Amino acid sequence: MLKILTNAKNIVFLSTCLAVHLISLCFFLLTGSTSLAVINAISSSIYILLLITDVRNTDTGIVIAFFEILCFSLLSELLSDGSMGYMFFPLGMVAVIFYLASVGKKKMLLLQCSGIVTTIAVFIIDVNNITVRIGRQADYGDLRNIIILSNIVVALLNMLYVSLLYMEEQDRNRAALEYNINHDPLTGLYNRRYFYSQVRTGEEKPGKYAIALIDIDNFKKINDTYGHKYGDAALVSISRIMTEALSPDDMAVRWGGEEFVVFMPGIEEEKAYDKLSDILSAIRNEKITVDDLTITCTVTMGVAVSDDYSNYEKIIGEADLKLYEGKNSGKNRMIT
Ligand code: GH3
Ligand code: MG
Ligand code: MG
Repeated sequence: MLKILTNAKNIVFLSTCLAVHLISLCFFLLTGSTSLAVINAISSSIYILLLITDVRNTDTGIVIAFFEILCFSLLSELLSDGSMGYMFFPLGMVAVIFYLASVGKKKMLLLQCSGIVTTIAVFIIDVNNITVRIGRQADYGDLRNIIILSNIVVALLNMLYVSLLYMEEQDRNRAALEYNINHDPLTGLYNRRYFYSQVRTGEEKPGKYAIALIDIDNFKKINDTYGHKYGDAALVSISRIMTEALSPDDMAVRWGGEEFVVFMPGIEEEKAYDKLSDILSAIRNEKITVDDLTITCTVTMGVAVSDDYSNYEKIIGEADLKLYEGKNSGKNRMIT
């Protein structure tokens, strides 16, 4: 729900302003305050115009709404007889405009200063009871406090709503950042940084663990013969095959370029070899198609097994030696 509201935050904000003005318009028409009804009618028209044009999804729309709120608050307090609590609208906008509009620091500061000046101006009008009488003005008596309270509540709800959206957006940004820090953008596999963070700090699983270093065979030739598009497609296909074949506890990592690491904690040697051998054949049989041309590719794997998690770097070195052995003995194979 919050996600939808964040994505449509401009439209939600403009519609809320329109709703508040329409309710105020009805109220002032019913109670017979013509001038206040007129400025609410004008404000409602502004929001209808903003909402029906493409401006609704732009910062310009929000900035126009911002100045509408300042002018509206100033005029309403000036036209109303006695205090009406319009000061809280510009005050609230000083707090929330930074989230609603992305206009750069200088412009934002200018907007917020306009909000502060307007808040002070409305306050001065309010405490000095300055009134410009145009048209008929109803006597609200005790109802005045209810109007003030309504204006406070609307301003506070706006602040609450915007802060919720802000927190939601922060959460989403944090999650996206975390994902980007730990994953390779092309294949979606974990990257080396994540692998190290998990292996160094991860809880040791009982039993052995296996590390496989996997390198695509003659990858340079694939790139040179068919183009990088095919090389990238091969990387993506191989990554998908590995991810599908591994268990949730295992980890497939894009080690760099066309090299991958598969880390399998808490696994028996034979089981690890079986899984890797399945991956090897699946890659061998995979048809990689781009633009109507289908290619195939193979990989070579070097696998090492240990039960000591503290020497994982040595185990990676061992797997690397096995990979080298595999490359020198014809490629397209697994050396254990
Ligand atoms: P070998 O069988 O001995 O492993 O030979 P190779 O050609 O696979 O290995 P080599 O190290 O000579 O070439 C690796 C190539 O991988 C070179 C580099 O341009 C390519 N490469 C690295 N990262 C990417 C990538 O993200 N996309 C594409 N398309 N190519 C990449
Ligand atoms: Mg390589
Ligand atoms: Mg290679």
